[in-house]
Amino acid sequence: MTTAATTRIHNFSAGPAVLPLEVLEAVQRDLIALPGVGMSVLEVSHRSAAFDEIIEGCEADLRKLGNIPENYRVLFLQGGASLQFSMVPMNLLPEGGSADYIVTGVWAEKAVKEAKRVGAVNIAASTAAEKFTRVPQPAEITLDPQAAYVHFTTNNTIYGTQWHYTPDTGGVPLVADASSDIFSRPIDVAKYGLIYAGAQKNLAPAGLTLVIIREDLLSRAPSGLATMLHYAVHAENKSLYNTPPVFPVYVMRLVLAWLLKNGGLEAIEEVNSRKAGKLYAEIDRTGFYRGHATPDSRSRMNVTFRLPSEELEKKFAKDSTAAGLDGLKGHRSVGGLRASIYNAFPEAGVDALVQFMQEFERRNG
Ligand SMILES: *Cc1c(COP(=O)(O)O)cnc(C)c1O
Repeated sequence: MTTAATTRIHNFSAGPAVLPLEVLEAVQRDLIALPGVGMSVLEVSHRSAAFDEIIEGCEADLRKLGNIPENYRVLFLQGGASLQFSMVPMNLLPEGGSADYIVTGVWAEKAVKEAKRVGAVNIAASTAAEKFTRVPQPAEITLDPQAAYVHFTTNNTIYGTQWHYTPDTGGVPLVADASSDIFSRPIDVAKYGLIYAGAQKNLAPAGLTLVIIREDLLSRAPSGLATMLHYAVHAENKSLYNTPPVFPVYVMRLVLAWLLKNGGLEAIEEVNSRKAGKLYAEIDRTGFYRGHATPDSRSRMNVTFRLPSEELEKKFAKDSTAAGLDGLKGHRSVGGLRASIYNAFPEAGVDALVQFMQEFERRNG
């Protein structure tokens, strides 16, 4: 008998992305009837006791894992990180005010575009001139002390860059798009006004957006804002103003339990650091592979690299797919290769890629 485990290939997709095998197995085991409930999670009412237990348990595990302070609310929304590009300014950027944006890639640019529809935007720093190969140093960031908030992208999925420090914004609320590295390492939530993340990279299947917002920011929205776009409405209704994404919330809870069981964020950071370290060591071993990101900004979630020619890059993408290493072709705006190795990506898959890289270099170097 072939089991799912033996037929699964190595999935380097940037998102939606790999989930822990034991989470998938639990979903499969309980899909027809949730224990003690007798119905599938796909069938239960979002106002049932069964779902109450799921969403409350999910929030409790999030709080425990992220050590989220009491004065922060956790919201389970839809519309992806992309809707947050609009909701953040709609709720937090007052008429006549201005917001600071740090631009480190295409996602940040998209956030700027939506914010400009709402109000004034100040580009506090940008690494566009360097093809987004790094994030800025503190001295390169020009913040406006009067800004309504400062927005940045913690991990730049497309370029494979990541912030390894938290920008100091003084008293101005810091807003983070953490879609591609949320809960990949410990986070001091108290440094942020708002953290958002599409869940489909590190936490859950697609369809769920996580928002963690400091309570005092809930009252900033202008009156007349559409109900569904209003953070306070979702907070007051415990994310049940309308039907939340029941299934992704359920799966996220299983992913959080998996993280907790394996030692929480300190432990996963260690694993992520080791996994990424193996790939960067291979990239740096000879001159054949070239990292896209500068070493101080290298991401532990998305490892981007080039080969000596585009022809070889195409061959690498094709041959690696044939070898059971899927999704390594880089984003079209950067080219080259990208290995997305989120929390749930098994270390054995990293080892397999390193081995493939060595063989590929031997044959083509
Ligand atoms: C994937 C991604 C997005 C877009 O997320 P959606 O949920 O598809 O809207 C935004 N920001 C970052 C950093 C991402 O990685």
